[in-house]
Amino acid sequence: MTDTKKTKRLERLDKLHVWHPFTRMLEWEKESQIIIERGEGCHLIDTEGRRYLDGVSSLWTNVHGHRKKEIDDAIKRQIDKISHSTLLGLGNVPSIELAEKLVSIAPKGLTKVFYSDNGGTAVEVALKMAFQFWKGKRKTFLSFSGAYHGDTFGGMSVGEIDVFVERYRPLLFKSYRAPYPYCYRCPVKAGKTYPACKMACLDELESILKKHGKNTAACIIEPLVEGAAGMITAPSGFLKGVRRLTRKYGVLLIADEVATGFGRTGRMFACQGEGVAPDFLCLAKGLSGGYLPLAATLTKKKIYSEFLGTGKKPDAFYHGHTYTGNPLGCVSAIANIGIFKKERTIEKLQPKIRLLEKLLEDFHLLKHVGEVRQKGIMCAIELVEDRDTKKTYPPDLRIGKRVCLEARNDGLIIRPLGDNVVVMPPLGINKRELREMASVIRRAIEKVTESEKA
Ligand code: PMP
Repeated sequence: MTDTKKTKRLERLDKLHVWHPFTRMLEWEKESQIIIERGEGCHLIDTEGRRYLDGVSSLWTNVHGHRKKEIDDAIKRQIDKISHSTLLGLGNVPSIELAEKLVSIAPKGLTKVFYSDNGGTAVEVALKMAFQFWKGKRKTFLSFSGAYHGDTFGGMSVGEIDVFVERYRPLLFKSYRAPYPYCYRCPVKAGKTYPACKMACLDELESILKKHGKNTAACIIEPLVEGAAGMITAPSGFLKGVRRLTRKYGVLLIADEVATGFGRTGRMFACQGEGVAPDFLCLAKGLSGGYLPLAATLTKKKIYSEFLGTGKKPDAFYHGHTYTGNPLGCVSAIANIGIFKKERTIEKLQPKIRLLEKLLEDFHLLKHVGEVRQKGIMCAIELVEDRDTKKTYPPDLRIGKRVCLEARNDGLIIRPLGDNVVVMPPLGINKRELREMASVIRRAIEKVTESEKA
């Protein structure tokens, strides 16, 4: 079968049977699609042999590039031993080795590791643990405007992006919302400066904690960057302020580092950027190097101890997932962490972050770029119809999507979040690829926004 024939067959079958996530399937069925067959470093290769730069790390997961030898080999070696055994009533070698490694790299005090298989489950575990910790006496949670914590009912209840949650609201539990300092469009209208926005958001948080802290099991935050909201970068000191206030009012802090973990913000974990130790740390995506669905919720001994019960009345955390602690996932995570050390990934990332900053600098000059946000290697370019008034484009124009399609024609895969063009390449990207990526995006933005004017 020729490549084209094979592609056509797969495309037909995809449209017949595969229901894609977050996708308007009516549009999908009409459009022609790319089908990825292979990967190589920071590139994806489709069934026609065309290469694309993976500009969003296969949805924020890939860390050192695709087909990274150390991770490939670790998985192959493990397959020759065993691919899965349960953690219910048994231990397995890789899950134990990985737990030790995670504890050694995580913020201080997080010594207990509970495995699951995705970002949403890592968050759900933290929410349920926090609720059970207070023995049902605290019935609500606190999160931030623009939050995204996954698509389970718990995650949606503390989430606040309408398109994902509005239809399910009747089924969601009550939680409070504090403003996240999206300073470009300050949610508390605190004025023009970022420190003013930050302080006003913290004040608002404090007034919620003052009023409702005693009934709040935990506060959940995406530290330093709110990903799905459009890579909203919080001004420095905000996270630290949140930790200070949650401590002051005796509320547990859950750091959802599903997106920010494993080097994306320029540190291993975003919390470390502000010297913050949360009560729970949720990890997924980059944990396995972007290879396999693996997640972990780390917490403190103080929390864990509350679940033990007594000799006469033992208790448990009655929660689990079948593939918990999957050995293949765990060895890929061990190899992933090993590469960080061996290749000094975080250190080598710093000049790339600076280069990206430089490359994105003159995007500010483009007429329809409202704001360029970057923290580490997580970036978004917010497109607006009118820069002076920050007026957004009518949603029906799908400007963000069209820019990404244009970039794709030029060999770059990126995805929009509304009219935010998201850029989040693997940490393993090289400088040449970064330059290429920036120039493709620039061209795509110019082309689409110019055509819209005409
Ligand atoms: N939390 C955050 C901060 C995320 O960015 C995501 C996914 N984008 C999730 C949770 C959910 O992760 P998953 O899709 O693996 O369930």
